[in-house]
Amino acid sequence: MDQDNYIRQLLHFLKESPTVFHAVHSICRLLMTRGFTELHENESWDTRTPGLYFIRRNGSSLVLLSLADDDFAGSGLRIAGAHTDSPALKIKPKPDMVNHGLLQMGVETYGGALLDPWFDRDLSIAGRVTWRNRDSSISSALIDFKRPVAVIPSLAIHLNRDANEQKKINKQTDLVPIVMQHSGEDSPDFAAIVREQLAREHNIREAEILDHELFLYDSQPAATVGIGQEFITGARLDNLLSCFSLATGLVDAEKPQNSLIVLNDHEEVGSLSTSGAQGPFLRSTLERLIPDSETRQRCIHRSLCISTDNAHGVHPNFADQHDKNHLPRLNMGPVIKYNANQRYATTGRTASFFRVLAEQADIPVQEFVMRSDLACGSTIGPITAGAIGIQTLDIGVPSLAMHSIREMAGAKDGWHLYRAMRTFFTAAHDQNMWQCLAE
Ligand SMILES: [Zn+2]
Repeated sequence: MDQDNYIRQLLHFLKESPTVFHAVHSICRLLMTRGFTELHENESWDTRTPGLYFIRRNGSSLVLLSLADDDFAGSGLRIAGAHTDSPALKIKPKPDMVNHGLLQMGVETYGGALLDPWFDRDLSIAGRVTWRNRDSSISSALIDFKRPVAVIPSLAIHLNRDANEQKKINKQTDLVPIVMQHSGEDSPDFAAIVREQLAREHNIREAEILDHELFLYDSQPAATVGIGQEFITGARLDNLLSCFSLATGLVDAEKPQNSLIVLNDHEEVGSLSTSGAQGPFLRSTLERLIPDSETRQRCIHRSLCISTDNAHGVHPNFADQHDKNHLPRLNMGPVIKYNANQRYATTGRTASFFRVLAEQADIPVQEFVMRSDLACGSTIGPITAGAIGIQTLDIGVPSLAMHSIREMAGAKDGWHLYRAMRTFFTAAHDQNMWQCLAE
């Protein structure tokens, strides 16, 4: 894959992945075309080596396994992780409300969304629907309206003269999207709208909608921007850009070593769920893959986890929000993230490993540490390190407008990350690198 090809495929992946469920579905589709077999958690596993496998949980988290041999104690696992979820507006269970001749939908905010950019966007709806068929069987499927069907209009400046100085957003009352004109004769019925979409997309008739997990998203697809097309803008770059770079890095790796990628849901809300990084998904996968606990522990202590999540690039209009010696720039390579208080899991040894890896992959590297007078965010790296006891480092591509409905990253940085990960999973490594990690 070359850089143009990578960007084209990334933009396509982002378009096909408006929700966490769609993102996992898109990656599984890629894996199946590349020879991976699905293992189901409720069945017995037949993990022959060499072999390529994936396991999904809740349709929103995913583990990828590329097994070269069964010498887990001797060679460890090359592990990488990222999160599949992004801040969004989630449609409430009973969303319908009619106000002044308009049908509106109640929404909850999911995660730490930057809310102001959600106004005046052409929004669409996507997610997972569960229904009962006429024969009483129950099914689930993904739906995606794909076209603009909702909007949250701003209040005109004439009715809010202070809007440019101080805009406060009430999540309950200000963020209620308009979805259609309503005559007032029929009672509103969101389930009927969902039922019609199910019929349109999946040809399912007479479905009794039991429940839904639907999100609003910006119908404007991700794009390259800049006079020289130097940048990418789009929703969910945090952290689907990492998910895509990890997965494609593994499937494109030549003769990969024993490798594992874990893509967790619910990072944006604290990671505690059946499918989140604080849940048992990775641990139970490792226990089933390597049932003998002595072998498993030896494997863990010969392994490294690269946790990948976007970093804050320096914003030229707000550069003083950064430490002046740590100013990650767009298109200048992945960022190693440091935090003395373990909000990031990077150690001097794991960072050194990545610096040598970056040399091998011929990509630049940058560093980020939060200003000492600002609180630092976190990610799945410290959680995974804490839960499994594996040496970990946190990296990510620099980006601007994190958690906005439209984020921005350098067009080269995803490509850099892809190359770093492809090199990480590839068998031929300088053994000195692994000595960085020797205890
Ligand atoms: Zn993130």
